[in-house]
Amino acid sequence: MTEFVPKPLHSLVCKVVSRCNLNCDYCYMYQHSDRSWQQQPFKMSEATITQLGKRIDEHTQKHQLSEFAVIMHGGEPLLAGLEYIKTFKDIITTNILNIKLEFGIQTNGVLLNNEILDFCVSNNISIGLSMDGNREANDLHRLDHQGKSSFSSLEKTLELLSSDRGRKIWTGFLCVIDLNNDPETVYSYLSQHKPPFIDFLFPLHHHDLRPFGKEQSLDVSPYADWLLKIFNIWYHQKPQTIKIRKFEEIISLMLGLQGNSEEWGLDPVDFAVIETNGDIEAVDSLKVTYPEATKLGMNIFTHSFDDIFNSPKVIERQEKWQYLSKNCQECNLVKVCGGGYLPHRYSRENYFHNPSVYCSDLKKLITTIRRQVIEDMQTIKRKKNTEVKSNFL
Ligand code: SF4
Repeated sequence: MTEFVPKPLHSLVCKVVSRCNLNCDYCYMYQHSDRSWQQQPFKMSEATITQLGKRIDEHTQKHQLSEFAVIMHGGEPLLAGLEYIKTFKDIITTNILNIKLEFGIQTNGVLLNNEILDFCVSNNISIGLSMDGNREANDLHRLDHQGKSSFSSLEKTLELLSSDRGRKIWTGFLCVIDLNNDPETVYSYLSQHKPPFIDFLFPLHHHDLRPFGKEQSLDVSPYADWLLKIFNIWYHQKPQTIKIRKFEEIISLMLGLQGNSEEWGLDPVDFAVIETNGDIEAVDSLKVTYPEATKLGMNIFTHSFDDIFNSPKVIERQEKWQYLSKNCQECNLVKVCGGGYLPHRYSRENYFHNPSVYCSDLKKLITTIRRQVIEDMQTIKRKKNTEVKSNFL
C-alpha cells in the first residue's frame, strides 16, 4: 500500500438541530437501530458554534484553502428558527478569516417562510429541499408525527423557492426513490417547478436489509429501470435546464472528468459531519448499518479536523479503491461506479467489503447511459466528417 496522503476537508454537514418535525418512515437518523440522537442536545450551542468556527479557521489556514462550505442540516435545521440561523452564520463568519465561505440549508421545507427566505437571499445562503414528488409519492413516507401529510406546506414552500427571489438560492430537490411511484409522474411533478438540480436517491439499504424489490434476488435491477425512464425523458429535453446528479455524474466520470459526489467515482471524500454536541462523524447515513457506525470518538473541543485522518473510518472514505471488495476492484465500471455508496455495501459478515446492494442497478444504469452517449458521439462525428468532406468538394 502507498502512504496515505489525506485530502483536506472542503465542507461540513452541521447538525444544528438533532430533532425533526417530520417522521419519515425511511429516515436514517430516527428509524434505525442507532439511537444516539437521543443523547444529543436539541440545538448546537453558541459555544459549540464558536469552537466549530475556530476549527474551520484552523483547518483552512493550515491547508491554505480559499473556499469552504458549511451546510446546516438536522433533523430539521429550520426548527431552530430564523434568529438562530442568523447567529450561527454570524459566529462562524466572525471566526473564519480570509476565505470564501458558502452557507447552505438542507430542509424538509415545512417551516420555510418569507422571512427566512429573505434572510437567505440577502446573505446568499443556499436552500435544498427534500421532497419525493407529487402528493401521492410524497405522502407514502414523508408524514409528520401525527401521521399527517406534509404536502400542503411543501407546496407553499415551492411557491417561495420557485419565485424569482427564491431561485437565487434554491439548489433543487433531494428525492428518495420508491418503486411504487411512477417515475414519469414524479419527474413531471418535480420538473414543472424548474429546479436547477435533482438528486434521485436510492433508499438507504444494504445486504442485511435488502431494498424493496430486491428482497428475493440482487440480480434484478428495478431501480435502474425506474431511473432510466426518467433518463430517456431528461436526455432528450432541449434546452436541458435541470441537472440530475446521477446522470451527470455517470457521464462526467465516463468522459474522464472529475466526480462531484461521494456516491460515485473513486475520488477521496472531503467532507465530515458535526453533531449538535460537536462530535465529528464520517457520514451520518451509516446509521442504517450498525449502532455507532458513524462514531469516530472525536469532538471539535478535543480534536482538530486533521485528527480525523488517523481514523480508519475516514481513511477508508479517502482511499476508496484500496478498501473495495475484490469484485469491485476487478470490475470494468469501477472508475465510474466507485463500488457504490458506502452504506449500501454493508453486511455484518463482510463489513463494507461487498459490492453495493444496488450493483445490478448500477451496472445497468452506467452501461445504458454509456451506450446512449457513445452512440450520440459517433453520430456527431459522422455528421462532422460529412460536413468536412462536403466543404472540400
Ligand atoms: S458495485 Fe458493482 S458495478 Fe459498482 S464497481 Fe462494484 S461490481 Fe462494479
